[in-house]
Order: sequence, then structure tokens, then C-alpha cells
Amino acid sequence: MNEPTILPALSCADDYDPNSMPVPKAREVISRFLSPVTAIERVHVRAALGRVLAADVISPLNVPAHDNSAMDGYAVRHADLKGDGEVTLKVAGSAFAGAPYAGSLEAGEAVRIMTGGVVPPGADTIVMQEHVKAAEGRVTIGGGHRKGQNLRLAGEDLKAGEPALKQGQRLRPADVGLIASLGIPEVSVYRRLRVAFFSTGDELVSIGTVPKEGQIYDSNRYTIYAMLERLGCEVLDMGVVRDDPKLIEDAFSRAAESADVVITSGGVSVGEADFVKDLLDKLGEVVFWKIAMKPGRPLAYGRIKGAHFFGLPGNPVSVMVTFYQFVRDALLTLSGETPVGPTPSFRVPCTSALKKAPGRTEFQRGVLTQGADGWSVRVTGEQGSGILRSMSEANCFIILPTEQGNVTPGTIVEVQVLDGIV
Ligand code: AMP
Ligand code: MG
Repeated sequence: MNEPTILPALSCADDYDPNSMPVPKAREVISRFLSPVTAIERVHVRAALGRVLAADVISPLNVPAHDNSAMDGYAVRHADLKGDGEVTLKVAGSAFAGAPYAGSLEAGEAVRIMTGGVVPPGADTIVMQEHVKAAEGRVTIGGGHRKGQNLRLAGEDLKAGEPALKQGQRLRPADVGLIASLGIPEVSVYRRLRVAFFSTGDELVSIGTVPKEGQIYDSNRYTIYAMLERLGCEVLDMGVVRDDPKLIEDAFSRAAESADVVITSGGVSVGEADFVKDLLDKLGEVVFWKIAMKPGRPLAYGRIKGAHFFGLPGNPVSVMVTFYQFVRDALLTLSGETPVGPTPSFRVPCTSALKKAPGRTEFQRGVLTQGADGWSVRVTGEQGSGILRSMSEANCFIILPTEQGNVTPGTIVEVQVLDGIV
């Protein structure tokens, strides 16, 4: 594969400032270097939920397979009906779902038919049972019926040979049902994206170890693990790595050898970044950005031995914000999903006063609620980048654009709903 190299591509073509990188610019740069997985697996339809189709699913049959009734009623020949007068027809038999009428409909006849029943040859119209009078093997039908009414035609949903689902689609429950409705037992999907991740920091201990004075529990690895699981990635948890150049180099090498993507948290802020920078220069091509955003200012992106690398900040909220603004879409693209649409956002009044200085994009954590006047959003309280509870209580990001200053209650703001994306 001919992969573009990151550093020359950036230095030739871009007048970007790595010390104040706008969010959309960083997203655009990352999107240029993503080469999706190509290996394919066959999976049973039951195991296909959340996987990405590697080929179109072609319908082997017409759906529906036969002309059938959309209503409970009577199948008739439209030519037998009177324009607006009444006509009485002989009920020749019945057509239930799964038990068709054996013959064909002759002039002067009707067939009792239930929803889903195969329309007998000769019939071209279904009259709802509410619109007839039935007695002693006969049925009396009034006027005003349209030829072809209440019929579902063979192939009107899908024709044999047409794609029912497209390559690049991530399968949802409706898609799983659709595949089953075609009688298809297995589909081709891309192999899962392999993502290795580790936390860096001398202060971190994992659950199960009692923290000593000054130590804290590592939460980022658990958040990252959970976010990756939601995206259907195969995860490789490499634990906590001490702030020691030798150990970090070793961890980067092992991660890049076994995964498509390497994600780390911590170690990219000023001061800490220096030795990581030297190391990554040695192992691959990595750019260090200060993104014009809050939280989540430092971010590293690049390649280590062919693996994609995202170096996220250490603060727990920054990890989540940078993951959703930069990493999520990249992982979906790398998984073979196409197209990866923009994450939906919409605008609602904000009931809280928000402090905000112009100059960078802010991602505050909000709670969207529906009241008598419609939807509105409030902030979750303290917004420090270390306060993970602000994320846990939130059901949306409140996105305040670069130029925005303080927000007074009642101002319309942009929100991005977390349910469905996280
Ligand atoms: P750093 O970017 O490594 O300087 O970390 C910034 C802040 O985030 C510090 O307060 C760290 O203790 C905290 N932090 C870093 N990594 C983690 C982690 N894995 N879990 C929880 N907090 C962390
Ligand atoms: Mg650190």
C-alpha cells in the first residue's frame, strides 16, 4: 500500500500553526491518512450486529415473493365490481398467510383473504372486510373501489438481484433482520479493527492495588476500553506504563506491532512531551498539536511502524472529548465504514450562564431536558477537565464556537447528543 507520509505532507501543503490548531483543521488532516482495513471474514447473521459489510448483500429473491394482501378482506376481479352500485359475488374459498387458494378466481367470484395471503391468479383488487356484507357463502360489495387497491406487489420492496445492503454499512438490528428475511445465513464483513492502548504516568495504579500517598487510580484506560468496545473494536489493554523512556519505547513498539491503532493517555503535555517526542521521532512520524479547544489542548497524532497513533491528554474529561472529536470518526473510517457522516448536532436554548473566553472551541458537558416549552440544555456544574463526573452526568456536549464569549441564560447553543454516539 502506498501510504502518504505525514510530516512532509503537512509541511509542504499546510500553513497550520501546531500551537493553535483549529479543531476542524486537525480533523481534516487526520482524515487524509486513514487507510481502512481490507481483510474479510464470513460471519453468521447472528454475529453480524455492529460489523461492517465488506460486500453488498444481494437479494436472491423478490420481496415480497408473491403479490399479497395488505388487508383482511376479499380478493376480487375489479371488472366484476359496479362503478357505484352493489354487486354480490360467490365466495369461492380462502387464502390465508401461508395457505394460498388452490385455484384461480373466475368471473363472479371472490376469495376470502387475510393480510399476507397470496393473491389468487385472476384477482387484481382487495376489498377490506369492513366494506362488505358477507352472508351464506356470498359477499355484497358497494362501489368506489380502485383497481389494485390494498395489494402488495411481488418485488415492490426488493427485486431479486438488487443490493439489499451496501458494502461499508455497519449493521444495525433492522439490517440483521433484513438479511434473515432474504434467507441468507452468512455475510462478509471486515475484520475488526485492533486497537492497543495504555496509560502513562508514575502516579497511576490500577484497580486492585491500594494507591500510596500521591497515587491515583487509572480511570482513562477503563474509559478508553469502554469507548472502544462501543465502537466494535478488538481491544488490547497494555496496562499502565511508567514515565520511563525505555519502558515507554518498549510499550510503543509492542503496541504498534500487534495493532492497527495505538492510543495512549497522558504524556503529551508540555514538559512531559519532550522525551515522548524524541522517542516517537525515532519510532515513527508523529505531530504534536496544541488544539484550539477546551478541554483537550495537547494531542499527538501520527504513525508508529505502520500503526495509527493517537496520543490523548491525561485529564479524564479531555480524554473523552478528544476521543469523540478526533478518534471516533477515524476509527469508524479505519473499520471500513463508509460514509462516516458528521455527528448530528442541533440547537437549543441554554438555561445556564456559561463562562467562555473567545479564542478556542469549548466542549462543555450538558444535560438536555424536555419541558413544556420544548428542549433546553443546562450545564452539569463544575467543568474542570479532571472532573469525570461532569461527563458521567451529561447526556450531551454543549459546543461553544471559537469566537463565542460568555453565554447568558436563554442563548441558543449547539449540542451534540451523547446517546447513540458513545
Ligand atoms: P498528564 O497529561 O500526563 O500531565 O496528566 C494530566 C492530569 O491527568 C494529571 O492530573 C494526571 O494525574 C491525570 N491523569 C493522567 N493519566 C490518567 C489516567 N490514566 N487516569 C486518571 N487520571 C490521569
Ligand atoms: Mg502524566
